[in-house]
Amino acid sequence: MSTRAAVDPNTAGDHGCDCPVEVIQERGQRQVFCGLTSIVWLHRKMQDAFFLVVGSRTCAHLLQAAAGVMIFAEPRFATAVLGERDLAGLADCNDELDRVVNELLARRPEIKTLFLVGSCPSEVIKLDLDNAAERLTREHAGRVQVMHYSGSGLETAFTQGEDKCLASITEQMPQAEENEAPSLLVLGTLADVVEDQFRRIFDQLGIGPVHFLPPRSCEQLPAVGPQTRVIMAQPFVGEATRALLSRGAQYVNAPYPVGIEGTRGWLYAAAHSFGVAEQRVDEVVAAPVERARAALARQREVLAGKSITFLPDSQLELPLARFLANECGMRPLEVATPYLDRQLHGQEAVQLGDGVRLIEGQDLERQLDRLRDDRPDLTVCGLGLANPLEAEGLRTKWSIELVFSPIQGFDQAADLAELFARPLVRHESLRV
Ligand code: SF4
Repeated sequence: MSTRAAVDPNTAGDHGCDCPVEVIQERGQRQVFCGLTSIVWLHRKMQDAFFLVVGSRTCAHLLQAAAGVMIFAEPRFATAVLGERDLAGLADCNDELDRVVNELLARRPEIKTLFLVGSCPSEVIKLDLDNAAERLTREHAGRVQVMHYSGSGLETAFTQGEDKCLASITEQMPQAEENEAPSLLVLGTLADVVEDQFRRIFDQLGIGPVHFLPPRSCEQLPAVGPQTRVIMAQPFVGEATRALLSRGAQYVNAPYPVGIEGTRGWLYAAAHSFGVAEQRVDEVVAAPVERARAALARQREVLAGKSITFLPDSQLELPLARFLANECGMRPLEVATPYLDRQLHGQEAVQLGDGVRLIEGQDLERQLDRLRDDRPDLTVCGLGLANPLEAEGLRTKWSIELVFSPIQGFDQAADLAELFARPLVRHESLRV
């Protein structure tokens, strides 16, 4: 577990003072997906929610291509395509949006929660989706809750789509009373299998009630208040975290539950916030830790000593690099992340150790120059860069795959390591 003092994002001062590690800032050309991409995993998690993108044909193509390629699920998303309009045509835009929503709800009466997802075409930016969501909620009162958030490509990372979605959900959560019993709120999408594992561990520790956000169903959102302990399961949910803290919730400072040590540190922190001793956590997790160690040892044989570079994409880069360095023996050369929240990611940066170039932001050409100089054994990057880099003889791993896969928790630690080992093993087999 980290030895750093707890940081409270509500009270910590200037951002820069919470991360003692030197961070190089880069600003330039970026190559990242937009926040609409997060619909791909959010719609699978929230089984009663529907995502209506208010956007252009480009947005529709992105969703069809990304979602169609990466998942095979009953679609619960669509795009309301708004054509070119000037400001005078905005009234028509609102009418058109209402018409699309009414048709959708008539066709799909099982929809209980509807997210209007904004995008970046100028005609959509002009639309007031806040008002539209309120108007539609009023019109369909008691039947469907309409929320909205932005999945615009103007944000810095595609995972921010989830952050903004969760922040919009927090607005609908009822306020808990001061004297309500303590509860734990786990923030950030986890695969159902991981959620179930954590729930079992929390039960054994006597911690509860435990709620997960996003929930599997949006119908009964938990209340939030001064007795709510918020622990982040994903590093990219800072805005939603702060929204909960502004409602009086308490922040649980923890590493992210990636790898054996990250997961144990995360559970220690949750247990501590409920007055449960670390020793009790060790007793409860002894068996899964033992299993995970044995499974991880096999992957470590492939990964130890190999160098790795992360290009900025998912915001998962820091905890992943920490796991690969500390538990798999890899050598991170450069770890770049699209946005580094000093207060929420600081302790992950510290655990990376010295000698790693830590970059925030992206200047694509300069980054590629450094990558060609370093020639790491493995490069973690966005989909668009993987093929050209492979053509240059570099081994790559898609970072987006790490957002879709169940990677948190003890039982997933070896699977996570294998995701990085696989391209290296494949390369060796082809060479033979
Ligand atoms: Fe493209 Fe913007 Fe639509 Fe994303 S939201 S697909 S970046 S137009």
